[in-house]
Amino acid sequence: MNTEILIIAEHSNGELDPITSDLMAWGAQIGAAKGWKTGVLVAGAGLDPVVAALRSSGVDALHVLDDPALAVYNAGTYVEAIAALLAKAPQRLVLVGHTYLGIEMSGAIAARLDATLWSNCRSIAASDHGYQVTRPISRGAYTSALEVDGAGLTLITLQRGTALPVRPSRPGSPQIISLDMPSGLPVSPIRVTGQTSAELGTDITKADILVAVGRGIGEQEHLREYQDLADILGGSIASSRPLVDMGWLPVDYQVGLSGRTVQPRVYLACGISGSMQHLAGMRSSKVIIAINEDPNAPIFEVAHYGIVGDINAILPELTQAAKLGANAR
Ligand SMILES: Cc1cc2nc3c(=O)[nH]c(=O)nc-3n(C[C@H](O)[C@H](O)[C@H](O)COP(=O)(O)OP(=O)(O)OC[C@H]3O[C@@H](n4cnc5c(N)ncnc54)[C@H](O)[C@@H]3O)c2cc1C
Repeated sequence: MNTEILIIAEHSNGELDPITSDLMAWGAQIGAAKGWKTGVLVAGAGLDPVVAALRSSGVDALHVLDDPALAVYNAGTYVEAIAALLAKAPQRLVLVGHTYLGIEMSGAIAARLDATLWSNCRSIAASDHGYQVTRPISRGAYTSALEVDGAGLTLITLQRGTALPVRPSRPGSPQIISLDMPSGLPVSPIRVTGQTSAELGTDITKADILVAVGRGIGEQEHLREYQDLADILGGSIASSRPLVDMGWLPVDYQVGLSGRTVQPRVYLACGISGSMQHLAGMRSSKVIIAINEDPNAPIFEVAHYGIVGDINAILPELTQAAKLGANAR
């Protein structure tokens, strides 16, 4: 693997996860600043559709590890295979999504290779001696900026929804390099006995307008009023995780790290504090409007418009205004 920067691609059912494009954009920016080549590692089985999707990605190389042993995700097998490949062909920088899969694999790979790992980053830029990264601290209330020494192998995990404002465009076809499964790997101590996939009834990722509700709405009975507002606006309701955990809404509606990633035209956050796990799923919305009674709620850091006040008092007025707007159309 003859590239200094390596991006670990994520995919499922032949479709590339959007986090991979974000990682490629960050990688291209570092590559341009340092004069380094960028490669993508795609591991799995039956990878033709994923490789086809990456053919015009503008990276220098696609490293393809296509093996039946990787058909089902097993952290033990994946970690050992990727660590063995990296050990044979040292990179300078490995970019991984801060996803369930990336969180699980990056720590174990870094430990195998005695590499530096900085996780949960929001941005990365080249600096004289390595990289500058930003990461949330104090439960997301602040962002820290760190200088990371790039002397050895560095792994960085980047949050979802941290796409660069402008994507560097690098047309060109990557060199495609087929890799063999490394031999002599230890047998994974994990045995995968089955897989389930969520049966999603409602697809909030397709909605143009989302009325998202959080714990601040107070009572389950209030949900009906938020649903009414979403209906009048021609959008859908969405939710933070506690409401799903309490059984108020099905998991289909959950936005965030362990829910869905959305990018609607308008995201109206009602009584949502703006935890980093929630922001991970909605930060890239085009216009974010937040209503919260706490002026210091972290949601206001990403909101384009904010209203400080009691949501239960504001909602009827919003609904009334939306009705007037709908009637005027
Ligand atoms: C591994 C992991 C994964 C997670 N994944 C997700 C995820 O995918 N999605 C997610 O959302 N969370 C996720 N979480 C949970 C996350 O950390 C937060 O706990 C959660 O996002 C908080 O939800 P909330 O904002 O609705 O509630 P709270 O944090 O309790 O915030 C409620 C907000 O409502 C405001 N408020 C209260 N009353 C009113 C009122 N009358 N009017 C106006 N504002 C009011 C408060 O000021 C407060 O800011 C995850 C956590 C972990 C550890």
